[in-house]
Formats: sequence, structure tokens, C-alpha cells
Amino acid sequence: MGDVVTPGKDDDNACVARADGGEDDDVVVVLYDAAVTDAFRATGSPSASPRRASTAADDEDVMTVDRVKPKYLPEFSMKSYYGVEERGESSPERATKRRRDGKPLELEIDGTAREPTKEIAIGGVYVKFPAKINPHPAQRMTMAKIIDALKKSQHAMIESPTGTGKTLALLCSTLGWLEREKEAYKKSAAKVRDMHEAWSVARKKYEDALIAFGHRNDKDKASTVKAEYGDGWDASRPFTCKTDVPPPPRVYVCSRTHSQIEQILRELKRTGYAPKYTVLSSRQRLCPLKKSDADCQDMLGDGLTQQERITSCAHYNRHEYVADHMNKYAEKNCAWDMEDFNRVVNEFSACSFFALRNLQATSEIVFCPYNYLFDHNVRRKMKLDIAGAAVIIDEGHNIEDVCRSGTSIELSMAQVAEAIAAFNAQSIKSAPGYYADVYQFLLKISHFLERIIGNTGEGQKEVVVRSHEIVGCVIDMLGEHAVELVRNLIKTPDNAKPTHNGPLTTYMNLCEDIANILHLVTKTPESYVIIIGRSVDINGEECEGMCISCMEPKVGFSTVAEQARCVILTSGTLSPMNTFEAELGVEFPIKIEAPHVVPTSQVYVELSDAIGEVTYKATSGVGASRFAQNLGKYLLEYAKVIPGGMLVFFPKYSLIDVTLREWHTSRLFAQISDQKHIVCESRGAAGFVDTLAEFNRGNATGKGSLMLAVFRGKVSEGIDFKDDSARAVFCVGIPFPNVFDVKVKTKRDFNDLPKSRQKGMLTGSAWYSAQAYRAYNQALGRCIRHPKDYAALFLVDARFREGGQYMMNNISKWIRKSVTACGSVNESVRNVDEFFKRTKKMLLEKEIKTESTDADVDETQNPESPVEYKAHRNENIFNAIGCEDNRKLCDAMDALHQAALSCEEPMRVNAIAKATTSIRALTYKVTNGSKLAKPGPGKVQGVGPSIGAQIDYFLEHDKFERMEYYLRGERMPH
Ligand code: SF4
Repeated sequence: MGDVVTPGKDDDNACVARADGGEDDDVVVVLYDAAVTDAFRATGSPSASPRRASTAADDEDVMTVDRVKPKYLPEFSMKSYYGVEERGESSPERATKRRRDGKPLELEIDGTAREPTKEIAIGGVYVKFPAKINPHPAQRMTMAKIIDALKKSQHAMIESPTGTGKTLALLCSTLGWLEREKEAYKKSAAKVRDMHEAWSVARKKYEDALIAFGHRNDKDKASTVKAEYGDGWDASRPFTCKTDVPPPPRVYVCSRTHSQIEQILRELKRTGYAPKYTVLSSRQRLCPLKKSDADCQDMLGDGLTQQERITSCAHYNRHEYVADHMNKYAEKNCAWDMEDFNRVVNEFSACSFFALRNLQATSEIVFCPYNYLFDHNVRRKMKLDIAGAAVIIDEGHNIEDVCRSGTSIELSMAQVAEAIAAFNAQSIKSAPGYYADVYQFLLKISHFLERIIGNTGEGQKEVVVRSHEIVGCVIDMLGEHAVELVRNLIKTPDNAKPTHNGPLTTYMNLCEDIANILHLVTKTPESYVIIIGRSVDINGEECEGMCISCMEPKVGFSTVAEQARCVILTSGTLSPMNTFEAELGVEFPIKIEAPHVVPTSQVYVELSDAIGEVTYKATSGVGASRFAQNLGKYLLEYAKVIPGGMLVFFPKYSLIDVTLREWHTSRLFAQISDQKHIVCESRGAAGFVDTLAEFNRGNATGKGSLMLAVFRGKVSEGIDFKDDSARAVFCVGIPFPNVFDVKVKTKRDFNDLPKSRQKGMLTGSAWYSAQAYRAYNQALGRCIRHPKDYAALFLVDARFREGGQYMMNNISKWIRKSVTACGSVNESVRNVDEFFKRTKKMLLEKEIKTESTDADVDETQNPESPVEYKAHRNENIFNAIGCEDNRKLCDAMDALHQAALSCEEPMRVNAIAKATTSIRALTYKVTNGSKLAKPGPGKVQGVGPSIGAQIDYFLEHDKFERMEYYLRGERMPH
């Protein structure tokens, strides 16, 4: 296989962006799973497991603190879950000393320090929102749709551009709804309690009657009591009331990486809600002693008593104190983030891993990377119960890949050989049944792989077994009792498995993972392809192995979607949404594309083929060096006029190498360095923190930095480069997957099969393009992060201009609206210079005006001209209130405006009345999810000219909530 750039997974299978360069002359190779390469890597370590990769999430554990505080800081947490960072009084060493000295722990929870909030009525739910922010249309639409999906138990897909405050909206609406569910549960539970009391009185009466009348009139008595107490009577058990009030559903809030989960927790502190929650993470990330799963399990094995566990690991002993303490946050109406958690853990010198596990039992919300739910083996090991739960996924644009890799597995022959060697005669003797099954299972796989790979012809790298041959292949691999063998392995209960098995734990887990995937294969063979052969790992070494690859994400997704109450998928880049629906095989009745928070005047987008040679064809050989030279000259000119940082994304690392080499051989590197501090994204996750720190240092000097990075790398996903941190993004080329990679080829072929077409899946080429443009749009969205932000975006590839609208349709809608093109670099640079000067001035003027009229910061203030602003604001109002009836609502609003402005009495009154009736009916429908019973004239009796003035007042003063209440004929609560 060729070089691979993959969004991979961390050790605990958290999905993390990871990148590596390719040497292909063509477009960069882009795949989905770092494991692809790792699994084929012939490792010698017994701890090697399938789908293991060095990832961003891993490396966060060794991040160091940047001592220089930069001027512009991208939003990124450098803190690990455990206290790598020294936290003064909270460090474990000091905490131990304090305990030795008999000093009490100082762990105060300040419930008064929270950000003030206000209540907003959305979709029939009161949502607490930070008081100083007036939610803008994108946030309102997001909240309305989330509440709608939660109430109706329907799956939803919500695209809200990056920087629109999507996470805050997601949390506020979910927690508002959960609060309402909890209230309803409390009321129902109280009712049940009352009924219990009433029925116990009834039972007493009944029993007295039985004693008095000698068991004769029991049926009469029962019906009398029933008539007296009404519903709630349990017919199967007379005089017992029903007690099956379902508790509020558990909510899973997921994101891609642990860093993003940390960001979500920071946002949670702003919401005004204080639910009970936990965070799921791996032992490897959390264990303060850095023990592996196997080592820890050996220390705390099933066979040990509690006392033995305590003496095995002192940290384990104290994890319950931490859990108790974290639960106090909810009691004091506070929320915590990972910094708070680490502080408490350090104070107690406790085990973070078991503390968070302990919190799971009482949690209303579970935060975790979404592969914990969609990876079949991880979900099984974590014992996550998703039945009836609400699953909310932030940054869900990689869900297809996660679902596919979560139901696939890869293993090298070296791994199988190691495992066989580990199960020696001694171990088989110690647990003959289970170990013997595992041993036989591995042996059969090993013989099968040797046979198939041995028979591959000269020059043939892989054997691909397609869906119709899959069952035969599994029988060939495991023998005619394959299904029973697999079933035995996966059905063996935990208590029937041997404990204290040391290094064998790793291999037992490996066997269970393979068996579970093979079980899925035998259930849905049509969705699988098995690839067996020689491959090349990222180190360029050949290794042999097998990949059981799931072709349809729906295998992983539908398991969760069918059990959960609803799955709500949110991201800045979900378009085109129909592709998701087709690939995930689940209908999403609720869909929305929210508008961006910034007006078009704050975004400059240019189709740049001004250098003429920035196409994928020009990035090899002689063309590559000419391309690099041209790009350097091009960037140098822009660097002179662009304030702050610049991000330049390439399809592959090798292209960055060529570019830097060419810049060094000419004077370009020095010339660009005079304008911007050049930083290059490191390969893999290691060293990323240093890279980011260097980028920040360059920005802190005032001249700004220029980052050379790759699509799907750490820079391109999950980090906010707001304000002067990055004022321009240059996307060079288009990151199409490697067309020669066997997995890409197999998936494309699979999608082109008639049966796939019948299922509505994308064609092979449409799927292929969707992979590229999703990564492209992610990169473009890095630098506009809030309503007052502004930036220039450059689509540096001649294919956009050649392909016209067809190509542009792949770009996010909010970017598409602003696209321009220039004839020359000089003209373009002039335009860019003018754009930055004009926008900066406009925002400054707006800020001064806002400050003089309003002391509070209103994040929705819009820095456009009055006319533009009014038009934009009206659009926002419509978006804010409207959902599927948005268009009709806009028309009704227009009619109202017309009526208020131009008609004469009494026509004016009638027109206003008519328009108001429509608005009221539509708003009612949007808010309550049902039609107003009588939207006719009866509902608008008494409407007079004042209503027009009233509406104008609301519009003029941005009092949307009050207008919403007014149009519903209700009073807004204070
Ligand atoms: S109990 Fe906790 S601290 Fe101790 S080895 Fe296990 S994970 Fe590590």
C-alpha cells in the first residue's frame, strides 16, 4: 500500500487526527484509520495490539508547558488528564506532605463564581444561556433542532459552521431539555409515592375487610377501591400501584478527541447547569503510575479481595474520595472541568481512572470520544449501555470512518505468531478449556494466512475476498465449525475466563476482538471485504497480514442508532448531508444547515490560480520545484499585507519538504522569514505542542507566523485560530485519498456495485470526492471563530476555476457566497490589503459605537453598514424563529413589514392582522411542533395598529424572545 495520511485513533481507540506524508507524485493518500498501517507493521513488542498508533491524544500526556505567553493563543489545551503540569499546592508531592503534617485538604467549591445566565424559551423548553450573550440565529436554530430531536426521539443532523458557538448551543439545549425531563420525573415519582401511600391505605382497608368478611367480597372490594383511587391500579397485583416511572434518559455527549472533550467541559462551566457527569478515557491516559491495562488488572485482578487491592495500589484506595468530591459540584450548583478534576486527584493522590469510572454509576451525562460508542470492541469492553440514551455527537464529520474502522480489524502475521508463542503448554494446562480454544483459533488463523500469502503470485500484493466469498473464506480460515468456535470465544462469560494471566491478557483481548469482528462478518457478510497480503507500513517496511474491512458504516452506526433514543450529529462540515444519510443507512428526519455568524463582508475568499501551476500534476519532479518557487513568491507578497498568522495547508508532507528545500536554496526562505516566522507542522503527534508554541511565539512578536501544515493533520482539525492568531488560510491542492491504495480502491468498487447503488449509497467517485472536500472544508474553517472575527481564504488550485460551479458546490455554503477571482497576484494582493484595512476600521468603528451605547458586550453586534445590518438582522430573525417553515415565515414577516409601512387605515389593520395570524400560527408550529388549533381570525381579535408598532419595536431592539412570546400571546417570564 502507498503512504497513508490517516485520521487515526489513540490507544483507547479515541479518534484522533493523525497525519503522515506520502511520497507519491500524485495527490496525497488519505485514508481513515492509522491502524491500517500499524496493524501491518511487524512489531516485536508483546504490548503491540491491533489498531494501535502513536496519536495526538497519546502525546497530550507528555506535553510541556509553554513558558512564553503568546499574544494570540489558539484555543488548545496543553494539559493532560493527570497532573503533568506542576500545579503548586495541588501537586501530589505537596499534598502528601500536607497529609503527613495533618493539615486539612483545602478543596473549596465556589458556587457563586459562575457566569450569570438568562432563560430563553426555545421549542417549549426554558434554556439557560450565558446572560451576556444574545444567542445568534445559528445557535437558536441549533438549539431548536436539538430540542426537537430530543423531544420527538428522532435522529438529527445539524451543520453549524465552526465558530458559531455550536458547542455552547448544544450543551444549553440538551441540559435544558434534561432539566425538564428530570422535573417531569420528579413529579411522576412524587405522584407514584402518593399513590403508594393511597394504595397502602386501600390495601389495609381491603385486608381488614377480608378479615371481617371472611374472604368473600374481595373482588367487590377491589373494584370499589379501584373506583375510589382511579388510574395507577395494577390489575395483575390488586392493591398495588404501578411504579414503573422511567428515569430520565442518560445522555452521551461525544466529540472526536479528548482535547475536544476538555473544551466541551470548559463550555459546560458557562451554562448555568450542574448535572452529574463523568468522562470516559483509557487507563493508559489516566493512570498516574503509567501502568498498562494488563499490569493494572493483575494488581487489582478479579481474584483479589478489596484489602489486597488497596495494598496493591495506594492510588486505588483513594479514588472514592475523588468521586465523592466531584459529586459535590452538582450539589453546589457547579460544574467542573478536567483542570478541577486534576486538582482534586492531586490533592488526594488518587487514581483518576477509577475515580471517573466510579462517577459513571451516578452520571446523567457521559462525555467520551465517539469511537467509544461506535467501535464495537471498545463499547463491549467499556460495557456502555446505550439503550434509550440520547447520543449527541459534536464534530461528527468523521463518523463514517469511525463506524467503519470500529467494525473492522487488522492484524499482522507477526502479532499472531507472538500470541501463539505466548500461549505455551504451561498456560494451556492452567486453563485447558478457554486457553485451548484461543490457541486453536490463533493457530488456524496463522496457517490460513501463511497458505494464502504463500500462494500469492509474484508481483501480487494482496488477495481481496469480496462479500459473496466471505463466508467461504471464514470457513476456510477456521474450519467447518467456524461459527461455533467464534461464538464460544465471544460468549464465554468473564467469570469463566482465567484471571491473573499477566501478558496473556493482551492476547486474550486480541483474540476476543478478532472473534467479535468475525461474528459481525458472519452476520453481515455482504458488508465486508477481507484483504490478505503483503503491505508496506509507514516506515516503508513490508509486512504481511490480514485486514477484515467493513465497507458500510451503517454496520457500526445502526447498532447504536437502533438502541438509542436518538443520535444527533453536529459538525461544521456535514454537507452534502444526503451522503451521510446514505452511508450511515439511517434516516435523519431532522436536518438543518445553520448560517454562519459572520456576514459575508468579513470573509474574503479568492479562487487562486494566479500562480498558474498549483495543480496536483505540477507537484512532482521538475514541476514540484517550480511550484514551490512560485508558491513562495506568492506567499511572500501576501505576507506583506496580511496581519497576524497565516496557515498554509498541503495535501502531503513530502510537498512541504520540497517547498522548504526550494525556499532554502533560493532567498525565499529568508525573505518570507522577514515577514512571518515560518513554522512547519511536525509529522505525527509528537512535537506538536512545541510546534504550536513556536507558532504562538512568532505571533507574539507582532509580525505573525506562517504555518505549513497538512490537511487532516492536527492543525487542520480541532484547533481554533481566532483573531490575529490566523488571518488567512491557503488551501493548496485538494486532499483526495490515494487512488492506488487497496482500501480506497476496494471501497470505491464496493460503492459502485449495483446492490450498493440500490441502497442509495454514493457512487465510488462521489464517496471519494466527499472524503477530500470534507477535509478541505475543515481546514478552511480554522480561522473564523466568532462574530467579530475576519479572515481571507484562498482556494489555491486551478481546478476550482476550471470546474466552475460543479467544483464549488463541494465547498461550504458560507464560503461559496463570498468567492471572488483575480487576474493577477498584484491585483489580488491589493484587494486583500484593502479588505483587511477596511474590515479592521469597520469593526473598530462599530466597537466604539457599541461601547458608547451599551456597556455590556453583545456578541451578536454586527459590524455591517446600517442597511446591510438591517437586512442581515432580519434574515437572522427569520432564521431564529423559523425552521422548516422558515420560508413561509419570512414571507409572513415581509407582509407584516409591508403592511406596517405602506397601507392605509383600515386596510393597514387588516393586513397586519392577517400577517400576524400567519406568523403566530407558524411560530406556534415551530415552537410546539404541532399546528395551532385555530389560526383563524378568532385568534387575532383586538388586533389594531398598535401591533405593527409593537412588532417594529421588537425588531428595532433585537428583542426576539419577547417577540416570540408576544406572537404566542403569552407573557415573557422575568
Ligand atoms: S489502580 Fe489506578 S493508579 Fe493503580 S495501577 Fe490501576 S489505573 Fe494505575
